[in-house]
Amino acid sequence: PQRIFPFQKGRAERPADPLESLGLKGADLSLLASLNLPVPPGFTISTYAWREAKGGRDDLPMGLRADLRDQVEALEEVTGRRFDGDRRPLLLAVRSSAKTAMPGLAESVLDVGLNGRTVEILAEELDDATFAFRSYRRLIESYAQLVFDTDPTDFEEIADEEAGEKGWTGEPASIDDWRSLIARLNAFLADELDVVMPQTPFEQLVEIVNAVFKSWRSAPAQAYRALHGIPENSGLAVTIHSMIFNERNAQSGRGRALSRDMATGRPQLTGEFQLGSGHVLRNGEHRTIDLAGALADGGSDYPADIADLDDHVRAVEAYLGDLAEVEFMIGDGELFLLQSRVGRRSASEAVRLAVEFVRDGLIDEAEALTRIDATSLDQLLHPSIQRDESFVVMARGMPASPGAATGEIVFSSDRAQAVAAEGRKVILVRHETFPEDIHGMHVSEGVLTIRGGTTSHAAVVARGIGKPCVTGAGTLRLNAATGELHAGNKVLRQGDAITIDGASGEVIEGAVTLVRPSLDGDFATLMEFADRARQMKVRTNAETPAEARAARDFGAEGIGLTRTEHMFFEGDRVRAMREMILASDENGRRAALEKLLPIQRADFVELFEIMAGLPVTIRLLDPPLHEFLPQAENDIDEAAEFLGVNVSSLRERIAALQEFNPMLGHRGCRLAISYPEIAEVQSRAIFEAAVEAGAKTGAAVTPEIMVPLVSLRRELDFVKERIDAVAAQVIEETGTKLTYRVGTMIELPRAIVRADTIAEAADFFSFGTNDLTQTVFGISRDDAGTFLSTYVREGIVERDPFQTVDVEGVGELIQIAVEKARRTKPDIELGVCGEQGGDPASIAFFAEAGLDYVSCSPFRVPIARLAAAQAAI
Ligand code: PEP
Ligand code: MG
Repeated sequence: PQRIFPFQKGRAERPADPLESLGLKGADLSLLASLNLPVPPGFTISTYAWREAKGGRDDLPMGLRADLRDQVEALEEVTGRRFDGDRRPLLLAVRSSAKTAMPGLAESVLDVGLNGRTVEILAEELDDATFAFRSYRRLIESYAQLVFDTDPTDFEEIADEEAGEKGWTGEPASIDDWRSLIARLNAFLADELDVVMPQTPFEQLVEIVNAVFKSWRSAPAQAYRALHGIPENSGLAVTIHSMIFNERNAQSGRGRALSRDMATGRPQLTGEFQLGSGHVLRNGEHRTIDLAGALADGGSDYPADIADLDDHVRAVEAYLGDLAEVEFMIGDGELFLLQSRVGRRSASEAVRLAVEFVRDGLIDEAEALTRIDATSLDQLLHPSIQRDESFVVMARGMPASPGAATGEIVFSSDRAQAVAAEGRKVILVRHETFPEDIHGMHVSEGVLTIRGGTTSHAAVVARGIGKPCVTGAGTLRLNAATGELHAGNKVLRQGDAITIDGASGEVIEGAVTLVRPSLDGDFATLMEFADRARQMKVRTNAETPAEARAARDFGAEGIGLTRTEHMFFEGDRVRAMREMILASDENGRRAALEKLLPIQRADFVELFEIMAGLPVTIRLLDPPLHEFLPQAENDIDEAAEFLGVNVSSLRERIAALQEFNPMLGHRGCRLAISYPEIAEVQSRAIFEAAVEAGAKTGAAVTPEIMVPLVSLRRELDFVKERIDAVAAQVIEETGTKLTYRVGTMIELPRAIVRADTIAEAADFFSFGTNDLTQTVFGISRDDAGTFLSTYVREGIVERDPFQTVDVEGVGELIQIAVEKARRTKPDIELGVCGEQGGDPASIAFFAEAGLDYVSCSPFRVPIARLAAAQAAI
């Protein structure tokens, strides 16, 4: 194998795997050279040679020394300069080049080849002794630091002493002063450390390469590799090229150019450069030049031709097929490219650029779609924090619902309502939230809880209504009685301002500037690309008309989950619900339910109308009944009074409904089996609403009724029988031909195993990955927050399985159920409505598993559309 790969403008020897063999910088310079762009001539010592030298453990092998000598000779030919020459000395820049940039690798060493003799020759050649000696001093210092591991402050002290003795400040004032300083640096090395920097340029080069090789094993580099999973033997290359004197005079400089105007996405040279730097800069002679302006001027009034630079940057963009970012240098009027890369961009810039590249015919729609990080769309749909401002993060919790929000702290939902009513912005801070907090959440800018994970009540509700939310900020201490929130030694009180970022989990002291999103034309265009590419449908989880409308605007193709319990949490409804729960017998329950029926029916009519013929899946009541009962003392008193029962009997009833483990308790279809009248009244509300909405809109509505938490086929049979009976009654009463579908959630392990049998009784399945994750792992979804973040930090799980589906466990079970269900009923409709349904990595898996749709909270619909498209490409 070849040890060294030379490059110069228009000619580069390139290995088959440039990045592996030459590292980032080496591969890039050889690419630019092969594109016939101006690069300083040079060569790269490959990772193969590094391996031959045992990764720096051995000195450079003889073979490599010989090759190195040949390459230096070739470079002497190309440049017309000589290493250690009597005139025009060749000087080199030596840079480490790994496949991934990492801390701890050797810094660049410049002006290799200067010695006591060549420095004088260079001074004469350039007619600039100060520049030549300044360069020599820098070489000695960086050589000593790299090869001898000297402490830079030693050199500073020496310089200070010299300055004092000779009476100069900043830099030596005369050639003699320079010579004296250099002599003193060399004497320090010899006397104090017993080392010398070789005077022979070739020996300098060999020692530097050796030390660069060794830097691979420095402690920071090793730590970085361990942290990022970069293999120890992936290897280091060393790139060497002839020096560009970019700091020499006002005709020299450096800059950075982009191929596009980031504000519009259109092709346009942008960026800037500085002329005159280093010492010149300090004298105030430097100029910063805006590239777009310079090009508009005609581009020729500058030391380097800007129109040429424009051509070069375009050539790089054409090669990359993407935004080009180029670093360049100008040495006494001559332009060189040093580095190119695909330019970085923000989420909104990424969307703009992807669409522009398609418009220009440079890439196709599929390529545009794969270039966008679906998760990053979050930033476009919600306000975000102005990151270039400084702020104090006082705690971190789980990123439970994206977006940033600022407001004054309130500790109760009632207070939230009162303060918000005055037109002030509030952040609701609670240990955790309960159904009775819904009104407080609605009026708050955002929600912060001390406990709970990413599928806790606060998280799920906040995502549904599009409010930023941070949960499980466990380092905060909330004392609602004293009205204090403690973060370490810091105490905040009701009314103090905080900011939360539900995308990062940060809790920030005070108000921070927020940036508003704008869903402009490019975003819409990208979504069109996505819709053309994807196979999976995207529905939404929605309960309120506002959510349903938002979801439609975001492109939802129906409702995949209406959690009917969420419709009972507000105001009067929770009272009627309590009446139903507290009723002593079936008749009492029916009477209370009759009050709820018209309210439910009206809700459903609205949802059907908004969804205008798209599928709407409505789930029968799921949570345990005690969730609807008051918890706090004063709430209990108030409820008792309203309901006309005495406080003690209300307490008794609350106690009787108390469960040790409500998540695994009397909920889901178990409720419908204990109290069939609940399921019957809900079904009636759904069917009557379907008839009403059908009559209003003229289009038939086919409601989908979903039974939760089924593990036995007989459970589904039992509930379905009641639903069918109600349907028959409504058909008879209204004389309308009603079509409907009955399906079930698959969210318990037993239902997975029996999916083939359960499918016989179901028109559709919707995987409830929240409960499925909870029950497969045996991890309580409400308590996960306290330890799952540790699991993630320690790498025990890669990601929170309540956010991203655990493909190996939960995912495999889903696959089993899909296969079993389709064996029984090939056309059974299969979807997912757990929180993971809006997570891009999970969506990739659901697509692979062959699901028909995912359903997610409204604000995640665009993300899901893009992720589903990416999964299909
Ligand atoms: C689920 O369990 O995944 C689900 C969607 O239902 P819920 O979160 O309401 O239990
Ligand atoms: Mg569930």
